[in-house]
Amino acid sequence: MVDGSIWDEVLDTEHATVVRTSIERWPPKKRAPEKILIVVVEPDDEARNRCPRCGNRGVPVESDVRRWRTLDVHGKRCYLESAVPRIECPEHGKITAAVPWARHDDRFTLPFGDDAAGLGAQMPWTKASAELRITWEALAGIVSRAAAGATAGQDRLAGQRMIGINEKSWGKGGGKYLTVVTHHATGKIAWIAEGRSQDSVKAFFDQLGIDRSKLLTHVPADGAAWIHDVAKEKAPQALICPDVFHVVKWAGERLDELRRRLAAELRVAGHADQAAAPGTGMRALRKKPENLTTGQRTALARIAAGNKPLYKGYLIKEQLREAFRVKGPDGKALLAGLVSRARRARIPEFAKLAKTLTRFRDLIWNTLDHGPSNGRAEALNAQLNALITRARGFRSADALITMADFVYGGLCPDSPY
Ligand SMILES: [Zn+2]
Repeated sequence: MVDGSIWDEVLDTEHATVVRTSIERWPPKKRAPEKILIVVVEPDDEARNRCPRCGNRGVPVESDVRRWRTLDVHGKRCYLESAVPRIECPEHGKITAAVPWARHDDRFTLPFGDDAAGLGAQMPWTKASAELRITWEALAGIVSRAAAGATAGQDRLAGQRMIGINEKSWGKGGGKYLTVVTHHATGKIAWIAEGRSQDSVKAFFDQLGIDRSKLLTHVPADGAAWIHDVAKEKAPQALICPDVFHVVKWAGERLDELRRRLAAELRVAGHADQAAAPGTGMRALRKKPENLTTGQRTALARIAAGNKPLYKGYLIKEQLREAFRVKGPDGKALLAGLVSRARRARIPEFAKLAKTLTRFRDLIWNTLDHGPSNGRAEALNAQLNALITRARGFRSADALITMADFVYGGLCPDSPY
C-alpha cells in the first residue's frame, strides 16, 4: 500500500513511476540487522525499451530485475528496483535497455552519483566511501563516470592564450609523476596524464592543434628541457616562458652546493664546530626575505657578518627573484647585473649559475616581457599539492587524475575551489 504520488515527488525522476515500496532486512548474519528501503519503479511509456546508445526504441527480448543504490532515506539505505529488458536495437543489436534514473550499466542512480562525487571532492576517499557505505573502488568508479560525463562534448582547450606545463610527483616511492597542463586565465586544469614523457606532452599539443598553438607556454625550466623541445616542435609559434619558481630554484641549489663546500672546507681545516650545519641559517637563506622569522633574520645577519661568500650568493639569489618581480626592462637590467656579478664573484657555484642563466637568457626574457602573473599558477600548484597530500590513500594514478580533474578542472559543480 503506497501513495505513489508522494514517492514520485521524493524521487523526482523524470519518466519514472513508483510501483510500490517495501522494507527488507539485511544482512542475515554477523552484522547488526539493517532495514533497507526498496522502491520499485518503472520507466514510463516514453522512456521504455530505449537503446542506451542511440535512444531508439528496441524490441524487448528478455527481462531481468535489477537494483540501483540511491540516496539514503532517513539514514536507511535505499534501492530502486526495476525490471530491465534486454532489447534488440536495429543499430546496436542486443543490449540492456536504458533507464531514466541511472547511467547505462551503472549500479548507482544519478543523484547518488552526484552526491558521492561531491563528497569525494571534499574529503579523503577512505572517509567518503565509509560515509556513503560503498567501497573505495565503487567511489573511484563513480567519480570517474561523473568526470567523464562532465567533459563529454566539452572543448576544454578552447580560447586559451596561455597554458602552463608542469610535472608533479605523487605517492610514496620514486617514479610516480603526473604531467599537468593548466590554464593561466582560470587557474584550472586543462589536461592531465600519468608519467612525464615526451609522448604525453606531444599528445597534448596534437590535441591542441597547430592553429591554436600561438599561445604562451609557461613551463618549468629545470630538469624538463625536453618540454621546451616538445613545445618548439609541436607549437613553433608558442612563446616559451620558463617558470619563475624553477629559475629561482637554480640559484637556491647553487647556494646549497656552496654552503656544503664551505662547511666541508671548515671541517678539513679543523673547525668542525663552525661547520656544524647552520639549520636556521640555511632555512633563512632559502626563504623569501619578507617571510623570515626573527630567529632567521638573526641567523642571516650572522652569515652576512661571518660568511661573505655565502651572503654574496644569497644576495644574487634575491636579486634574481627581484628581477622577476619588477619584470620588463628593469627586470632585464637586474638580470644582466646579477649575471655579471655572479660571473665575477670567484665562486665556482655562481659562475655555473651565470652560465645557466646566460644559456636560457632569451627564454627568461620571454617571461620578463610576457610572462603570466604567478598568483594563479602558484595557487593551483598549492591546491594540487594539498590534494596529493590529502590523497595519500590514492591507490592509482588514474584515481588521482580523475579527482584532480574533477575538482580543479572545473567539472565539479559544488567544488569549494
Ligand atoms: Zn541503438
